[in-house]
Amino acid sequence: MYSSEQLKDWDKRYIWHPFTQMGDYMRSDPLVIERGEGFHLIDTEGRRYIDGVSSLWVLVHGHGRKELTDAMERQSKELCHSTMLGLANVPAIVLAKRLAEITPAGLEKVFYSDNGSTSVEIAIKMSYQYWQQKGEKKKKRFISFLNGYHGDTIGSVSIGGIDLFHKVYRPLLFRSYKSPSPYCYRCPLKLDRASCGMACVEEFERVVKRYRDEVCAVVIEPLVQGAGGMITQPEGFLRKVWTIAKENGLHFITDEVAVGFGRTGSMFACEQEGIEPDFLCLAKGVTGGYLPLAATLTTQEIFGGFLGRFDQFRTFFHGHTYTGNPVACSVAVENLALFEKERTIERMADKITLLRDELKRFSDLPAVGEVRQRGFMVGIELVKSRKTKRPYPPGAKIGQNVTLAARKRGAIIRPLSDVIVLMPPPGMDAGTLKELVDVTYDSIKEATGAP
Ligand SMILES: *Cc1c(COP(=O)(O)O)cnc(C)c1O
Repeated sequence: MYSSEQLKDWDKRYIWHPFTQMGDYMRSDPLVIERGEGFHLIDTEGRRYIDGVSSLWVLVHGHGRKELTDAMERQSKELCHSTMLGLANVPAIVLAKRLAEITPAGLEKVFYSDNGSTSVEIAIKMSYQYWQQKGEKKKKRFISFLNGYHGDTIGSVSIGGIDLFHKVYRPLLFRSYKSPSPYCYRCPLKLDRASCGMACVEEFERVVKRYRDEVCAVVIEPLVQGAGGMITQPEGFLRKVWTIAKENGLHFITDEVAVGFGRTGSMFACEQEGIEPDFLCLAKGVTGGYLPLAATLTTQEIFGGFLGRFDQFRTFFHGHTYTGNPVACSVAVENLALFEKERTIERMADKITLLRDELKRFSDLPAVGEVRQRGFMVGIELVKSRKTKRPYPPGAKIGQNVTLAARKRGAIIRPLSDVIVLMPPPGMDAGTLKELVDVTYDSIKEATGAP
């Protein structure tokens, strides 16, 4: 319909891309995606690329799955949208029941929104309002982790811990207390994993004990800090942190926006350490990557704190216009059905091992400082000097150069600064997975000038 050239021209003229230095972008040759087919994306010039980061961590069973597009078509003919403010709709009810069934025990109430940032803001506001309504007026703060990421809205940035993204907005934010990140490769406490005894947990406990009277909740990305650089937590970290939070009477908010729906090898990350959070935030993979939808799940206990006479005003005064969109909910229901039908989680186990084996040879590359993996979440941290762990200068744009080299070889990946991220869809077949790793290896080799 439109020529590739025409589209690229209009793209540069009219679009402001997220998390993108537009000065660089304006000088680049934009890549315009036109179609998706299984685990590949196809551009306006017919070139095919492996979708190596699941279209920013959302895709699960592949593009163009008939079961999913049929569900959307069926629902869109019935009803595309009606409001959830005081009204219900069929797919939103069915999905809420399914989510309550498959998430950790105790999570029984589903509050919808439409993106990950809002799913976290909702948990924060609910926790705060719950304590206020309980008469705990001093509780106004949150504890979160350095290198944590919970979204881009002001509230979710306030509990974020990535200086590069968050520092400039600091004057606009509410204060939160930060605990060290379990970033063992660059331990903030300068300790060694083999002998540290998880001292960062003790540091967390100190923060909790010091501030608990004014703290509503602890907010964490369980098992992996995603946007902070695919920082994988040592085994047992999550459970310890949860136990300390609960012993000190704090709510525990798990942000599974990235790790949920299979990414770490189980349906939800919380399962792996048997924890039961007070709030669970879901988005990204919930619709299999087809439509925007998010959900904040919570307990009967929290929900009960909002019940009262109309004129007590204990209502949760929050609700986005497209909350609980029926088409998004119906595709989410079908996404969950596909998980069962295809035994997606069980079938990941062998592929996770394959991925681990294939990643071993990356340590041959002199620029690879560390390879981190949890399930299908992979971070390959590149360094200028492996011995001193000195990073590349930002101007070297090393991550971006690896991405461009991968693009030439037919894979779309996206770095987090100098960490090359692979986040293949849980349903990806072993062959494509291997191809993706090969392309990544060759691209790092080329961009870092390895022999
Ligand atoms: C992506 C992400 C978010 C934000 O989700 P959006 O849909 O982009 O608003 C929040 N938390 C985590 C852990 C994420 O990875």
